Amino acid sequence: MATSDHDLDADDPCCKVAAAADRRGLATLDEELRQLRKDQDASLRELAKYVDEQLLESALREAGVEIAADPGTVRSVVIGTPAEEMSVDVAVRERIATALDRSDVDVGSLEREFVSHETVRRHLNDHLGVDTARSRADPSVEETREMIASIIERDRSVVEQSLGSLRRADRLDSGPLEASLTVRVTCPDCEETYAVDELLDEASCACASQ
Ligand SMILES: [Zn+2]
Ligand SMILES: [Zn+2]
Repeated sequence: MATSDHDLDADDPCCKVAAAADRRGLATLDEELRQLRKDQDASLRELAKYVDEQLLESALREAGVEIAADPGTVRSVVIGTPAEEMSVDVAVRERIATALDRSDVDVGSLEREFVSHETVRRHLNDHLGVDTARSRADPSVEETREMIASIIERDRSVVEQSLGSLRRADRLDSGPLEASLTVRVTCPDCEETYAVDELLDEASCACASQ
């Protein structure tokens, strides 16, 4: 496959995606990104992962490396977070590592081609004319916070009523009990756990700072 010394245009950082697609011969990448966004409502983060998978797959193909694993799995092993890497079966991990060791793929230089979701956002907005601005129909953080708070309140009162029934049946010896519930959420990629309010305050998990 032809490779060109396509320098990144310093005035147009969005084109890191275009330059990489060009260099790796990914002629249909833009169309694929458009479709994933439009038809599957893919997030910018999912699109950035997709771009990285395609770059990786194409680099391996160019180097003649045959790995019987899907691009997402290869990506998890080569550039995923430790948690993503560990989610892949150990035998598959070893097979991918061995194949890469035997190849002359320079993973370090490939890593510099990988894209952030900010890069993908600029590429979609400025280059493909795809608007990624949040629409009025999207749920707001405040609406989501209120929805979670009302679920917690409902469940809290169900718990209190159930315990109250036990107390009245003399199956539980205690004073009137007050329940408190906290929703905690864990990102499988960075493995960080947050109180849901804390995550909504921060607007991102630890992945964003990796
Ligand atoms: Zn671009
Ligand atoms: Zn995370």
